[in-house]
Amino acid sequence: MNAVAPHRGERIYLDHGATSWPKPPAVIAAVSRALTDLGANPGRSAHAMALEASRAVEAARGRCARLLGVPEARQLLFLPGCTIACNLMLKGYLRPGDRVVVGSMEHNAVVRPLASLAAQGLEVVVVAADDTGLIDPGEVERQVRAAPTRAVICQHASNVTGTIQLIGEMAEITREQGARLLVDGAQAVGHLEVDLASLGVDAYAASGHKGLLGPQGVGVLAVAADLELDVLIEGGTGGEASAQPDMPRERPDRYEPGTLNTPGILGLGAAAERLAADGVQRRRRADDLLHRLHEGIDALGGFRVLGPPRPQHRLPLLSVVHDWLTADRIAFDLDRSHGIAVRAGLHCAPWAHRTMGTLEGGAVRFSLSADNSDNHIDRALEALRRIVSRAGHGET
Ligand code: PLP
Repeated sequence: MNAVAPHRGERIYLDHGATSWPKPPAVIAAVSRALTDLGANPGRSAHAMALEASRAVEAARGRCARLLGVPEARQLLFLPGCTIACNLMLKGYLRPGDRVVVGSMEHNAVVRPLASLAAQGLEVVVVAADDTGLIDPGEVERQVRAAPTRAVICQHASNVTGTIQLIGEMAEITREQGARLLVDGAQAVGHLEVDLASLGVDAYAASGHKGLLGPQGVGVLAVAADLELDVLIEGGTGGEASAQPDMPRERPDRYEPGTLNTPGILGLGAAAERLAADGVQRRRRADDLLHRLHEGIDALGGFRVLGPPRPQHRLPLLSVVHDWLTADRIAFDLDRSHGIAVRAGLHCAPWAHRTMGTLEGGAVRFSLSADNSDNHIDRALEALRRIVSRAGHGET
């Protein structure tokens, strides 16, 4: 058995679905500025430095709200990530005895809160996706009509198959039937044009550190003005400190207790500003790379590509299963022998893998960004070819 020689050359990062890297210089500069020039605590003291920090946070809120089409900036909450946002969206709205309809492609950020709510008496009806990962809005409508339903829960796009869901159609259904539409947009933001006002979504949770290109540790939850969520975390909010223990009624303070992640928020604000300027070109570029990768993998043979066949129906990510090599083995060899970072396994989405029939061994996910190059894709394809060929010859 030959020892695996660790790769020593340039490293290629194709794991943007986990977190994007590298972050744009403007994001790094904004984070740095928050830690140097703007070091005071926003929303707390009344001195000039604290006021300047507050203004910077609100400017970042405005940029993120504009990017996502949120009509009023105060409806956009800064939270520590999409997982926390999903928890607030679900646990802040749903009650024991409620009925919800949910798609079968959800990530554990949704599945696990729903499981704990189900243990308290929530009725959860699961609509199975088809073999491309798509949830049929017609089936969602049938299920919503079958019994009084408080909410439909659906991700905007899958982190496993990249499938983009028909959120606009689901919003029409929920509106007509008097239910709410709660969406996990962790993977969609930055990669898709998201205009929440025209989509008609009631609550939309998203990561700041994936397609939005912000730092880790910050995410957003956009909540429609007429949707009241229970407060899950209570504490100081700077303003309105009265003798009453109640949290203030106003957003965003109601849902943002404690010291904010100012470096993360300012970094995300800078990322949003940049995406507003070059998001369209970036999306085109990432789609070209996806096309190149997809064609190359099809040409190699022996791989099953999960998700929709047409690139316009998916995010720039491709999960694959090989006929006889395990996903773990492929990802390990890509990293150790070729310096290529991808993610294998279940991607925190066992429901999605069960739907795709890949729960047993998972898949290898290549998730791309406009910052990748043609050369990165060609090298990944050549590495895959070599890994399969070597394994076929019994080499390890
Ligand atoms: N939802 C989906 C579809 C995801 O892919 C992820 C992360 O991979 C999350 C939610 C959780 O996001 P975060 O890690 O930012 O909390």
